[in-house]
Amino acid sequence: MNLRLSSTAILLITLMTHPLSIFGGDIKKKEEAVASIESHKTELTNISDQIWRFAETALRETRSSKVLADYAEKQGFEVKRGVAGMPTAFIASYGQGRPIVGILGEYDALPGISQKAQSVKEALEAGSAGHGCGHNLFGTASLGAAVAVKELIAAGKLKGTVRFYGTPAEESIGGKIYMARDGMFNDLDVCLAWHPDDRIRADVDSTQAIVDFIVEFKGKAAHAAADPWNGRSAVAALEFFTTGLNRMREFVKPTVRMHYTIQKGGDVPNVVPEYARVWCWLRDSKRAGVEELLARARKIAEGAALMAGVESKLTVQGGDYELLVNLTGEKIIHSNLTWLGPIQYTAEEQEFAKTIQRATSVEPTGLNGAVQPFDPPKPDPEGGSTDVGDVSWLVPTLHLSVTTAPEKAPWHAWPVVACGGMSIGHKGMVYAAKALAATMVDLFEDAKTREAIQAEFKKKSKGEVYKPYVPDGPPPVPED
Ligand SMILES: [Zn+2]
Repeated sequence: MNLRLSSTAILLITLMTHPLSIFGGDIKKKEEAVASIESHKTELTNISDQIWRFAETALRETRSSKVLADYAEKQGFEVKRGVAGMPTAFIASYGQGRPIVGILGEYDALPGISQKAQSVKEALEAGSAGHGCGHNLFGTASLGAAVAVKELIAAGKLKGTVRFYGTPAEESIGGKIYMARDGMFNDLDVCLAWHPDDRIRADVDSTQAIVDFIVEFKGKAAHAAADPWNGRSAVAALEFFTTGLNRMREFVKPTVRMHYTIQKGGDVPNVVPEYARVWCWLRDSKRAGVEELLARARKIAEGAALMAGVESKLTVQGGDYELLVNLTGEKIIHSNLTWLGPIQYTAEEQEFAKTIQRATSVEPTGLNGAVQPFDPPKPDPEGGSTDVGDVSWLVPTLHLSVTTAPEKAPWHAWPVVACGGMSIGHKGMVYAAKALAATMVDLFEDAKTREAIQAEFKKKSKGEVYKPYVPDGPPPVPED
């Protein structure tokens, strides 16, 4: 059938199927960016699979960061390795002048959750790490998007600088916080990030602010039966402390989450323990709430030490701000997701997902490849924290989620590892790269939208002086 359409009809159809036109980003350039990602798909999938197999944990991502940095260099980016005192952190830049658009990439795995790329639970290597948060996909997709934008800059079709941030250790100390402390995001006009998920959406919901600290108690050792009066128990203080913290649970807002593990609680019962240590994470929906919790925890530690007649020391090890959501920017992301449309899955992929759901006692609904509606943000976020939050208080940061795992399947667990190493994860990774690249075309081309994003950022961050939760000195890079 031969359709002859008038130019008005073509324009109308374009506006209907490509609603992005309202943001001023050129559709043709977006299509070129998408085509670029398609042309690099095999390389990107290989990189993602390599990182998936390396499964390197926080600050040990030597081979993972190298494969990404080497690829960026091969694509013509200027690469600075080992930034902010972390051998596995790097920055890859291309282009000149403004705007400077940043994009974040992660690549650390989680210990102990090794899994084969199959729908039945079975470790690839028992006791080893696995990509249970999909960060192999995260880093690769972000770099894929940066490469597509680089090609448009190289062809003279976009003007400015694209900068990829290789950010290690999201799962432990938060590498971005050290990069933020060293001012590495300060000159950006806008920054982008995404995360693997069980849905596709523009993220209008924030994350939780968190503080990570340890409390140590030092007492006096003695024979627990012969001369206990000469001893002062550090474990007694630790018990007073955790009792105090648990008692406090009743008198905090419903948005608060408190968790801890006892790292050292003496050695044998017949020695009065002279040393004890507890590791705590306190969360609330806002940084100010976390500050208040931390101040209360300090007093509880002091009180516990006083009761047990020992000494206490509280050391802040890290923490994240909540994500400062930029609704102007999220609308652009949503338009680009709508423009791209849903992810299509094969019957085999849906069956793979359902097998995992059955195995993890989740309703077998399969994979959700639909773009979620743009709902209003919730007043208080659910779930976890991320060091992307810190970046979002320094520069307007736009965030999206893309399906890489079955709906409601447990995260930080084997199902996410399994899907991240096969076609379900690959599809999500390629889709995320396209969504990020298309959004960047808008950001590069449309100065008015950038100004609107920055105006919202300035209004929302007004009065907040950025103070990262990091100890002084270099990041705690493991020596082995
Ligand atoms: Zn993650």
